[in-house]
Amino acid sequence: MNTITSVFGTNVFSDSVMRERLPNETYKQLQRTIKQGKHLDNTVANVVANAMKDWAIEKGATHFTHWFQPMTGITAEKHDSFITPIEDGRVILEFSGKELIQGEPDASSFPSGGLRATFEARGYTAWDPTSYAFIKGKTLCIPTAFCSYGGEALDKKTPLLRSMEAISKQAVRVLKLFGDGDVTSVKTTVGPEQEYFLVEREMFDKRPDLIYTGRTLFGAKPPKGQELDDHYFGTIKTRVAEFMEDLNEELWKLGVLAKTEHNEVAPAQHELAPIFTTTNIATDHNQLTMELMQRIAKRHNLVCLLHEKPFAGVNGSGKHNNWSISTNTGKNLLDPGDTPHENAQFLLFLCAVIKAVDDYQDLLRISVASAGNDHRLGANEAPPAIVSMFLGTELTEILDSIEKDEQYGTKEKELWKVGVHILPRFPKDATDRNRTSPFAFTGNKFEFRMLGSSDSISGANIVLNTAVAESLRQFADVLEQSEDFNETLHDLIRDTIKEHKRIIFNGNGYDDQWIAEAERRGLLNLKTTPDCLPYFVKEKNIQLFKTHKVFTETEIRARYEILLENYSKILNIEAVTMLDMANKDLLPAYSAYTKQLSETVVAKKAAVPDADCSYEEERIRMISGLCGSMYQRTKDLEEVLMKLTHMECDELAKAQYYRTEVFGAMNELRIVADEIEGVMDRKFYPYPNYGDLLFGV
Ligand code: ADP
Ligand code: MG
Repeated sequence: MNTITSVFGTNVFSDSVMRERLPNETYKQLQRTIKQGKHLDNTVANVVANAMKDWAIEKGATHFTHWFQPMTGITAEKHDSFITPIEDGRVILEFSGKELIQGEPDASSFPSGGLRATFEARGYTAWDPTSYAFIKGKTLCIPTAFCSYGGEALDKKTPLLRSMEAISKQAVRVLKLFGDGDVTSVKTTVGPEQEYFLVEREMFDKRPDLIYTGRTLFGAKPPKGQELDDHYFGTIKTRVAEFMEDLNEELWKLGVLAKTEHNEVAPAQHELAPIFTTTNIATDHNQLTMELMQRIAKRHNLVCLLHEKPFAGVNGSGKHNNWSISTNTGKNLLDPGDTPHENAQFLLFLCAVIKAVDDYQDLLRISVASAGNDHRLGANEAPPAIVSMFLGTELTEILDSIEKDEQYGTKEKELWKVGVHILPRFPKDATDRNRTSPFAFTGNKFEFRMLGSSDSISGANIVLNTAVAESLRQFADVLEQSEDFNETLHDLIRDTIKEHKRIIFNGNGYDDQWIAEAERRGLLNLKTTPDCLPYFVKEKNIQLFKTHKVFTETEIRARYEILLENYSKILNIEAVTMLDMANKDLLPAYSAYTKQLSETVVAKKAAVPDADCSYEEERIRMISGLCGSMYQRTKDLEEVLMKLTHMECDELAKAQYYRTEVFGAMNELRIVADEIEGVMDRKFYPYPNYGDLLFGV
């Protein structure tokens, strides 16, 4: 195998490749575009495109694509080859600046929430020069944003880039007041830790539920689950290790900083963590990581499950979004620093995050909402559906002391004055102890832990960036008017703590008492997707996105519709798949099993009239009874679905109906099926069971 350094980034049109291949002047102009968002003129674009094409062809590419992230949550690409015919019937390979900068995929089939009226079905893609082009297979992929002709965002990248701009603008305002004149921009950084399951491909192929929905809709618990805690950080099995090795190499070629991998809590569950990078690149890289995980698993005759809850009864999969803010001069603004001055700045940014998380709990919850993630949030494995923050005791004590500053100068306890005292260093392990918090401070960054494993991380980061931008905007407004900066700063920090400390919770998030306590504090507990989505279109939230030019009201309403619709569609597919499995495989299997038992009884009695047939007879009675009840429940579920066909209601009411009625009927159906599976002859069960799936690799 090649060494990491010789492989790393070989398929990326990176800064070093650009420096090497572009004329000096072109390189400089492109850098200005990348760093300052300056417009790229056509002649420069032509030179860049040509160099990119030559480089790609040398690497074996024949096609190029504008690679984008529509609202489906996965990436999309439409391949065009480089060929252009010339007069004598031959072709030459061409790629123009125009083709690099803008594309026009016929995108009428992507969800748009009504944004793209049918008469104008086209959308356009626009190059995001801050994320490097790369080669996948034989295709040069150009990361792009995807918009309608009216300029409305149809994807997940456009608003993310807008939110990064918003937080940069407001943070720079604040930093200027601290005398940090060198800072011209800030970027948020993200390191997403990705969880996933690996199962045997042959077994996957036999389960319609996994094929159609990504999760098991039936399945009795195996004799062993995760109770022995013997999988977490355990030795990685050879086949899995080979998969990981292969995956790492492919990711490295694409410049993805894959770093840590280990087994997770559940059997067959694993995790991959990259080294953090700028948010939009981290988002692109996470999409690529998910895609490659699935593709490379197949090469090893495995299937990678990214669903949040593939198996009932064992842990589901999430994604931890490690997030921070750093300046163009290289300073991490969530790092406390060593001097009173740095500490004061840190505290203000910390307060900006505290205020943001409290003010926009609802949006953070929405940013991780999906049918799949509903199975995790609030169950005893993932953070609860209540958004709260963990800061650790040391930091919380300091905030307490700042809050009580009316007693500043009194003797009892030493109180803390912003800009005067030096913060103690917070050892990482002291801040990282709490694993149950949805939003934890971990020394120099925050870890948002509510994301689902299949989510694009862009949604969560759009909300985080924008909400923190809003806190900073308000802070800058106050500080810019101040006559005594230090005094105003101290008051601002104190008042923010007072007003928003309800969001800070250092205890056990899995504890029932916390739910009651959170309610007393007035925190939201939005358990499911249909519960939280209506908050998306609340006035305060529309205002937030409008103020920072991240979403227009139309874009928000479109996204709201898409999310609701998507939720209902997923539940519908699951319900229909369950019926299909019950009617075509499970019920017939129970019949066949009871038939065999009955024949056995008849045969036994014929041979030995007084033979003991208690096992067969009791099983026949039991399975027949359960089978009858299961049959009734399939009819109930069918009826619940039927009602939908002549129900006139809006998308929200429909999603709510799916959530209560359809989901309820699905659960009822599953309960009996799993009970039967627990007692029936293995040979008659038509699918690989949980034991096979979880311990098969
Ligand atoms: P763990 O959470 O497993 O203890 P670490 O805290 O070392 O591991 O890192 C977890 C993730 O946080 C990694 O992906 C790492 O790159 C990322 N991370 C570290 N520093 C930052 C930062 N300043 N901004 C964003 N992500 C970061
Ligand atoms: Mg972590």
